[in-house]
Amino acid sequence: MDIVVIGAGQAGASVVAKLRALGHDGAITLIGEETDPPYQRPPLSKAYLLGEMEAERLWLRSAEFYAENTIALRLGKPVQAIDPVKKTVTVGQEEIPYDQLVLTTGSVPRKLPTAIGGGLDGVYSVRNLHDVDAMKPEFAAGRRLIIVGGGYIGLEAAAVASKLGLDVTVLEMAPRILQRVASPETSDYIRALHQAHGVKILESTGLDRLLGDTRVTGVRLTDGQELPADFVIVGVGIMPATSLAERAGLEIENGIKTGPLGRTSDPSIWAAGDCASFPHGEGRWRLESVGNAIDQAEVVAENIMGANKPYQAQPWFWSDQYDCKLQIAGLNIGYDTIVTRGPEGDAVSFWYYKGDQLLAVDAMNDPRAYMVGKRLIEQGKSPDKTLISDLSVVLKALLKA
Ligand code: FAD
Repeated sequence: MDIVVIGAGQAGASVVAKLRALGHDGAITLIGEETDPPYQRPPLSKAYLLGEMEAERLWLRSAEFYAENTIALRLGKPVQAIDPVKKTVTVGQEEIPYDQLVLTTGSVPRKLPTAIGGGLDGVYSVRNLHDVDAMKPEFAAGRRLIIVGGGYIGLEAAAVASKLGLDVTVLEMAPRILQRVASPETSDYIRALHQAHGVKILESTGLDRLLGDTRVTGVRLTDGQELPADFVIVGVGIMPATSLAERAGLEIENGIKTGPLGRTSDPSIWAAGDCASFPHGEGRWRLESVGNAIDQAEVVAENIMGANKPYQAQPWFWSDQYDCKLQIAGLNIGYDTIVTRGPEGDAVSFWYYKGDQLLAVDAMNDPRAYMVGKRLIEQGKSPDKTLISDLSVVLKALLKA
């Protein structure tokens, strides 16, 4: 059985490694449009941007790993088309046949339209190594950076820039940063953290346009105010990379639509990672995280090998900003109550409940709260809220209750 994987990122690398670990002995081809071997993205907006990590340390596996496992790694060219009838993919002039195909094409950052200055020089997205290498020279002390979008990636870039002595302003259109993903309590905590480091956070602030002829020189806000900038980072979210799948006629529903096993609407084609939406409860989820990319990819590999195992997502995420380590377990969709535990020293955690059901935990500098919260959610346990907020209660004991 010949297996082709399109997209040499976190999920793609996980699928091919798992297939070999499970004993698949047919051909495996991993095709990536980037020139770098599969690498981890989280450090791109953290240690790598700060200059504290070499590019080689980003690689998920050594070059030898692919050679030793006879995984054909083909980099630097995108797959242009899939022919689901002939069961081939087209790369340049070549057609590569497959028996089973896996799509791990990730996501693409939303860009600002060129009509409002999105195409100017000095305007950057943070998605891949190339983006970050291009923006790194801009990070010199005293320069003025405007970040459009107060999500995790924009805020991480703000923390790096502030550490390096830049003058940083974050623009957020919504009433609060992180509104789409976190509680007001978490937003308040992160806002205060940035403000303590001199970052200006402007919420409920719309962008009218970027200013400049060829290179960005500033921004105009919807209230008419103009702010100068030496460069701009746009962090306004991502979209699943579905165009190839769409052109191949696969069903799309907020990502490439898969069934519980990770199979798409074509029985020989699978999908995993940022690009894939999968059934969960009554609805569908699409997650944008390393944990999901790895777990879902491994389940797809198992199912290609015949395991017949539905994917059970156990969401987790993290973000590093300054000296704060934020760890998130679970997914807070539909929460109605926040229970705060702490602060205790610099540790504090926010616990999301829907009725009496524990959904998620945001833990700042509190790995214990994160670990316990994660295991409680995985075990389907929901401690009484008063136990969570009571610092005299040992969290670990809740796991045994
Ligand atoms: P990717 O890793 O993006 O890989 C997809 C690959 O497919 C890309 O290399 C792309 O070029 C390639 N591709 C697309 N189309 C084609 C084609 N037609 N032909 C060939 N190749 C193609 N997650 C966390 O959990 N914690 C974090 O702290 C965190 N921080 C992040 C910071 C940054 C700056 C970014 C960008 C992401 C971060 N994430 C974080 C998210 C996490 O990195 C992603 O969820 C994860 O990489 C998704 O893996 P993936 O394999 O689905 O996609």
